[in-house]
Amino acid sequence: MRANATTATPDGDAYRLVGHKWFFSAPMSDGFLVLAQAPGGLGCFLMPRLLDDGTKNAFRLQRLKDKVGDWSNASSEVEFCGARAWPVGGEGRGVATILEMVMLTRLDCMLGAAAQMRMALAQAIHHCRHRSAFGRLLVDQPLMRNVLVDLALESEAATTLALRVARAVDAAPREPAEAALARIATAAGKYWLCRRAPALVNEAQECLGGNGYVEESMLARLYRQAPLNSIWEGSGNVQCLDVLRALAKEPATGAALLAEIGAARDLHPALDRVADALPDQLAQAGPAAARHLVERLALALQASLLLRAGSPAADAFCRTRLAGEHGLAMGTLPVDLAVPALIDRALPA
Ligand SMILES: Cc1cc2nc3c(=O)[nH]c(=O)nc-3n(C[C@H](O)[C@H](O)[C@H](O)COP(=O)(O)OP(=O)(O)OC[C@H]3O[C@@H](n4cnc5c(N)ncnc54)[C@H](O)[C@@H]3O)c2cc1C
Repeated sequence: MRANATTATPDGDAYRLVGHKWFFSAPMSDGFLVLAQAPGGLGCFLMPRLLDDGTKNAFRLQRLKDKVGDWSNASSEVEFCGARAWPVGGEGRGVATILEMVMLTRLDCMLGAAAQMRMALAQAIHHCRHRSAFGRLLVDQPLMRNVLVDLALESEAATTLALRVARAVDAAPREPAEAALARIATAAGKYWLCRRAPALVNEAQECLGGNGYVEESMLARLYRQAPLNSIWEGSGNVQCLDVLRALAKEPATGAALLAEIGAARDLHPALDRVADALPDQLAQAGPAAARHLVERLALALQASLLLRAGSPAADAFCRTRLAGEHGLAMGTLPVDLAVPALIDRALPA
């Protein structure tokens, strides 16, 4: 953002924008927030599509992007040719101003990733309840049941985390502790849920067999869409580095996260062990270790939320995601955890 080369030159009560943007989504919108270099530093500007007299503002859409997915949302490249724009926040405050919006769009990415997981899971369970192979419904095949339960654990944990962060973002203007939690959990949660969604969608797709790979099923579209939330609004590494930045510059964020995880103290030995190690890990982590740290933070937070909610999925989540009773692929739960009740809980028959 700081290397932005678009310029904003004062002109009467407004500014004139000149420059280029390589990604400019939803170009049919009535207004756009644009960062540009003003005389006093990088600023944030509201650029309307139409001016008060009804004429088009001076920007040109050069072409639409040919994207892997996300086809219902146009994205374009744009040239600003002296477009009129009005400041939002002062000159030099551009990054701070846009970050207020970014907190919300990163939450959107989390909610979107959780929703994609939920939809993919529902499609997989539905298919497996109706398709017979080798003499039994797929949902009754022990190995498929293991896969479905594993997907259900992941989906429930994703929804729980996304909604908890949404609550923190809502309460942030009134409650400092929630603001601190929102600041760090938005970055950590965006990293983790958006990282997990493509893998889960791909597993769910395979539950439908060949039907998951044709356009009549919803899975093909979900498969194209799932990676995007991890890329836009700051991609994975950037989120992990942002967690480190929050810990270094705003110590209250780390304290809020540890308090939220610690609220489940004594509810599960696996979480207690992870929580005990976290303060040292938070203090020592550098950039090269940031992904591993953020993964552990997100998993611990998910475990804490599931345990405190009394979810029947909580023990299985802790044993597999925190205590190592799990392989690298989905469907590798210990057999005592692969129980039909967790499938019925995810999608009542
Ligand atoms: C469909 C779509 C629509 C979009 N719409 C908009 C829009 O409307 N407006 C807008 O402003 N932007 C938009 N974007 C841009 C989007 O926000 C960026 O593409 C995204 O934030 C990644 O930035 P980048 O492409 O510049 O990648 P880069 O910054 O080049 O990053 C490439 C890779 O390097 C990693 N990386 C970067 N820095 C570091 C580091 N210090 N250490 C380790 N790894 C690092 C990143 O995580 C990433 O994996 C859109 C993108 C897409 C795909």
